[in-house]
Amino acid sequence: MQLEDAVVSRAIITRYTEELLQALDSDVAIVGGGPAGLTAAYYLAGGGLRVVLFESKLSVGGGMWGGGMMFNQIVVQDEARPILDEMGIAYRVFKQGYYTAHAVESVAALALGAVRAGAGIFNLISAEDVMVRGERITGLVLNWKATVMAGLHVDPLAVNSKYVIDATGHDAQVVNIVVRKLKATLKTATGGLEGEKPMWAERGEEAILANTGEVYPGLYVAGMAANAVGGGHRMGPIFGGMLLSGRKVAQLIMGK
Ligand SMILES: Cc1cc2nc3c(=O)[nH]c(=O)nc-3n(C[C@H](O)[C@H](O)[C@H](O)COP(=O)(O)OP(=O)(O)OC[C@H]3O[C@@H](n4cnc5c(N)ncnc54)[C@H](O)[C@@H]3O)c2cc1C
Repeated sequence: MQLEDAVVSRAIITRYTEELLQALDSDVAIVGGGPAGLTAAYYLAGGGLRVVLFESKLSVGGGMWGGGMMFNQIVVQDEARPILDEMGIAYRVFKQGYYTAHAVESVAALALGAVRAGAGIFNLISAEDVMVRGERITGLVLNWKATVMAGLHVDPLAVNSKYVIDATGHDAQVVNIVVRKLKATLKTATGGLEGEKPMWAERGEEAILANTGEVYPGLYVAGMAANAVGGGHRMGPIFGGMLLSGRKVAQLIMGK
């Protein structure tokens, strides 16, 4: 069979454009494709919502690929084991209550789960701002990460979404934008960004679920961003909290 290069190009451009056009109006737009964002995408899309996820890097997976200090194993505790089972991620008991899984298998399974559940995943796109109507976040402002890195003066594009999830990890980038630009009062203990506390896995894992939720009308936080906003401890390479937080934010939004 003869292959025409221009047909390959047309196929890529057509299909990508179709998916990007669909992303203009979603129920939930997730910023960040780490474990929390991917898990949220899986449950939300599985629940029948129109979900898009924007990841600024080439690959999804966030900080999960490297386990701890590039030892590519992750640790998950009892509470999150059902999520590993649901995603088909193999794990081994290390000692009672501690399970290990391969980081690469974990990322691959989460990404496959999210895509197969129907979430639209866009890598290489950075959320650089939010859209706001009155006192509610109504969408995202996006640009190519490469454009941002090159410092090119290229205007972004905007997408509508009923709910936005900040799953950008330690930086809590979307919430930071909302606080800086809107002088927003958040639904946190002090009304502001509490900031992340030093490493304490047990406390961090407990706090992450309490901190997962809506922090401003239309804007939710999940994963490490939830602790960065709510003032929880960091927890290093134990990933159960990230998975549970992703599931919880999905349940909260579906509950609405
Ligand atoms: C490079 C890196 C180093 C880390 N080092 C440590 C560490 O030393 N100790 C520790 O406790 N934890 C560390 N973490 C976080 C740790 O891996 C987390 O506990 C866990 O990965 C958090 O999961 P998450 O899903 O909340 O966010 P992450 O896994 O951090 O994923 C967030 C994702 O959001 C993407 N993102 C960020 N901003 C935007 C934006 N504006 N638009 C689109 N996408 C965006 C990022 O590229 C990333 O893929 C690190 C994370 C990363 C990414």
